[in-house]
Amino acid sequence: MRFMKCPKKDGELESKTFEKINVEECKTCHGMWFDRGELKKAKDSTDEDLRWLDFDIFEHLDKKYEVEISSRVCPIDEVKLEVLTYSDSKIKIDACPNGHGVFLDDQEFEKIISYLENKVTSTSSGEFAKDALAQLSDVLTGPEPVASEVKDFITVLRLFGKRLEAEHSNISYVISNLPILR
Ligand SMILES: [Zn+2]
Ligand SMILES: [Zn+2]
Repeated sequence: MRFMKCPKKDGELESKTFEKINVEECKTCHGMWFDRGELKKAKDSTDEDLRWLDFDIFEHLDKKYEVEISSRVCPIDEVKLEVLTYSDSKIKIDACPNGHGVFLDDQEFEKIISYLENKVTSTSSGEFAKDALAQLSDVLTGPEPVASEVKDFITVLRLFGKRLEAEHSNISYVISNLPILR
């Protein structure tokens, strides 16, 4: 097995299973290293309702967002990690500029999940409708395999139905009887 050092240089990383995926955890600080793509998989398996939310932090790197240089290093190529602030949250994520993966401090994954859950509950039904339309256009034009896009779209519709249920009980009856959701 490959031996890797913690990006904080305070210990070794050890493989463990987290949210059904394989990650590397530091025995000293309990920070976790996720190879590229693994963070999104862990987030998806934590809460199905959050699948549709954008979580490709590597997009931020591609778009050349303002980033700070971290004192931590990538366990794979040992280059300095970049600190990204995820969306409008206060969460800072260390990511390898060469796309090897991301490092989360202890409890940071939980913070991301509660931030996303809060986003779902605080979004109005109007915004959900916009997201549903955006998802639909992704189904037609998106780069992801169609099956996965359709699943995201159904998730948005389901959340939209739940949201409407709270606001207008008779509309939610119509939504819940759409053939796509049965
Ligand atoms: Zn560590
Ligand atoms: Zn790297």
